[in-house]
Amino acid sequence: MIHIKTFVFNPFSENTFVLYNDTLECAVVDAGCMNPREEQELEQFIREQRLKPVVLLNTHCHVDHVTGNGFMKRKYDLLTRCHEADAFLLKDAAAHARMFGLKTENPPGPGKFIREGEQIGFGNTNLQVIHVPGHSPGSVVFYSSDDHILLAGDVLFKGGIGRTDLPGGDHRILLKNIREKLFTLPGDTVVYPGHGPATTISTETQSNPFFV
Ligand SMILES: [Zn+2]
Ligand SMILES: [Zn+2]
Repeated sequence: MIHIKTFVFNPFSENTFVLYNDTLECAVVDAGCMNPREEQELEQFIREQRLKPVVLLNTHCHVDHVTGNGFMKRKYDLLTRCHEADAFLLKDAAAHARMFGLKTENPPGPGKFIREGEQIGFGNTNLQVIHVPGHSPGSVVFYSSDDHILLAGDVLFKGGIGRTDLPGGDHRILLKNIREKLFTLPGDTVVYPGHGPATTISTETQSNPFFV
């Protein structure tokens, strides 16, 4: 059985997730901690639950989702696994942060890239990678059919979708991908977006204003 701990980090109110199971291995998704206090909060949870981080994942590489990648490398020796089409964003992170008046380091380069259809395992959990471009060219979501969960990044929100005015964004492609790749998942799948509260696939198919 999977457990999901959500942290809300950095000035963008980004959701950072720690996924773990009874083996105590864990995956960290979108490490967005941006200052020593947030780093300590994440580290303390991992330590108190006696978890062993075995994989760092990024749904995509916008600056608000990668500000903790340097910490994850220093503390746990993990490099993020992201889609190749978003790797260019890692080099732009510090410059993007400056545009918002924020200071952050450029994150370390990526580890092994992840691909459509790949299964990412930790402990007895498997996450399936689904490539859903549109918000960014390398946006992926992580799906577990056993646990009925979807980590949706900035693709799909409760009552919203990701913005498409950033480099590589495409509104039409985003809508098409959500319809074809996410709204075809079971309705009881719980969706954990990159910002804001959780929702379900059935709630969004029935009431998301971009689709009804
Ligand atoms: Zn984003
Ligand atoms: Zn975001």
